[in-house]
Amino acid sequence: MVLEERMKFQDMGLHPSIAKALQKMNFETPTEIQAAAIPVAIQGKDILGSAQTGTGKTAAFAIPLVQRLIENPEATALVLLPTRELAQQVEQVIRDLTFFARDIRSVSLIGGVSMVPQFKLLRMNPRIVVATPGRLIDHLERGSVSLAKTDYLVLDEADRMLDMGFAPQLREIVQRLPEKRQNLLFSATFPSTLIKLVREFMEEPTRISVKAEQVSPDRIKQKVLEVKQDQKAQTLLQEIDTRQGTLLVFVRTQRNTEKIGNFLVDSGCEVSIIHGGRSQAQRSRALQQFRDGLTRILVATDVAARGLDVPHVEHVVNYDLPEVPEDYVHRIGRTGRNGRSGEAVSFVTPGDRGQWRIIERLMNPHLKPRDESRFQSDRSLNKEPSKRTPFGAKKGGPGGPKTGGFKGGGLKSGPKKFDKGPRRDSQNEKRSFGGRPEATAPARFGGRRPSKSQGSRA
Ligand code: AMP
Repeated sequence: MVLEERMKFQDMGLHPSIAKALQKMNFETPTEIQAAAIPVAIQGKDILGSAQTGTGKTAAFAIPLVQRLIENPEATALVLLPTRELAQQVEQVIRDLTFFARDIRSVSLIGGVSMVPQFKLLRMNPRIVVATPGRLIDHLERGSVSLAKTDYLVLDEADRMLDMGFAPQLREIVQRLPEKRQNLLFSATFPSTLIKLVREFMEEPTRISVKAEQVSPDRIKQKVLEVKQDQKAQTLLQEIDTRQGTLLVFVRTQRNTEKIGNFLVDSGCEVSIIHGGRSQAQRSRALQQFRDGLTRILVATDVAARGLDVPHVEHVVNYDLPEVPEDYVHRIGRTGRNGRSGEAVSFVTPGDRGQWRIIERLMNPHLKPRDESRFQSDRSLNKEPSKRTPFGAKKGGPGGPKTGGFKGGGLKSGPKKFDKGPRRDSQNEKRSFGGRPEATAPARFGGRRPSKSQGSRA
C-alpha cells in the first residue's frame, strides 16, 4: 500500500479520547497494519493478522479494542501474549491509549511477580486483562478472574505461544470464553498447528497481511566470524571495541547469558542482561537501562529479546547461532530499522557449520550446490586453513577468527527448523545446566507443564 493512499487516523472515526491520546503518543500516520486492521476490527470482524513486531501491530489491535470498549460500556477484553515483557509492553500501549479514558482500566497478569497486587487490581474490575497464559490460568483456578463475559480476545505472537508449548493452556482459556466474541489474532508465521487452532475457534476471519518487518539486507552489513568455542569471549570483546553504538548480543542459554554479561561487566563494559531466569524486576530494570542509553550492550536470550521494542540497536552479535534458522532474520532485524544502517556479526564454531549452512541457504536461496559442497568439504575450521574458507570468507589476523562477508539474498523465509522435531533448546538448557526453563508459566502450575514435545521458552 502506498503511504499517500493510507487511511488516516482522522478518517477512522476514533473516539476523541483516543485521537487525543494518539497525539500525545506522537502517532500521526497509521502504519500499514494499522491502516488495514483498525477499520475492520472496529466493524466487529475477526482478524487473522500476519505481522511482526516493529510494524505497529500493538496499536493495530489496541486502538480498535479501546474504541469498542468505549462504545460498549459493559464490554471487557482479554489480550494474551507469550512473554512477560511483551505483556508489559502491550499494557503500556493500552495505558497510553486510555490516558484520556480513565474509566477503562487494565491489568497485566504475568508470572514472576507477586499475585497480591494483581488480586487487588482485579477487584477494581478492569475492562482489559493483558496476560501470559500460565498466570492467567492460575488466576482462573483460584477464581480471582472470570472470563465468562469477555467480548474481545486478542492473541498476539500466536506462533510463539505454540512454540513455547502453550497450546493446551490456550485451548483451556478459549473454552472459558463466551462463544460469541470478537477474535483478533496476530502471528509472524502460520505453522499448521496454528492453523488448526485458528480453525477451532475462529470463523471466516478477515486476513490481513503486511510484509515482514522492514529489514533491509542492503542496509545491514552482515559478517561471519569463524571462531573456536574458547575464542568467543575474547572475540566478542574485540568486536565491542572496534564498534561504535549499541549492541545486542544473542546467547543461547540463560546460564551463558549471565556468564557472558558478567564477563563483559568485569571487562569494563556497561551491560544489561535479560533472560527468563531473572526476576521480573531485574528484567524490567535491565531493559529500561538499555532503552534509556544507560548501558551500551544488551546480552539476551532469543526468547527474552523477541518482540521487545528496543529501537536503537546499531549492532547485532550472534554470539551463539539461533536454534531456529528463521530467528536469524528476526535477530538481525533488530538493527537496520527505519531506513537506518546496521551491522550483524555471527560467531560460527566448527560445530555450528551445519546450522550456519542452513541459515545461509535460507538467506540466499540461490546458493549453488557447488557452494554448499565447498562448505561441506571445508576443513579449515579444525585443521590447516584451506585457501577458500566458507562463505567466501577471508582469513583474519594470526590466530584470530576468520571473517567473511555475507552474500545476502532475499530475506523472505518460511518457518523452517533445523530438525523436524520440536524445538529443543529449553530442554537442552534444562539438561545441560539444570537451569529453569525460560517460560513464565506452564511449568509452575502443577500438571500444566508443556508436554515433552513442546519445550517452554520465554
Ligand atoms: P510494535 O510493532 O507495535 O511493537 O510497534 C513498533 C514501534 O512503532 C513502537 O515503538 C511504537 O511506539 C511505534 N509506532 C506504532 N505505531 C505508530 C504510528 N502510527 N506512528 C508512529 N510510531 C508508531
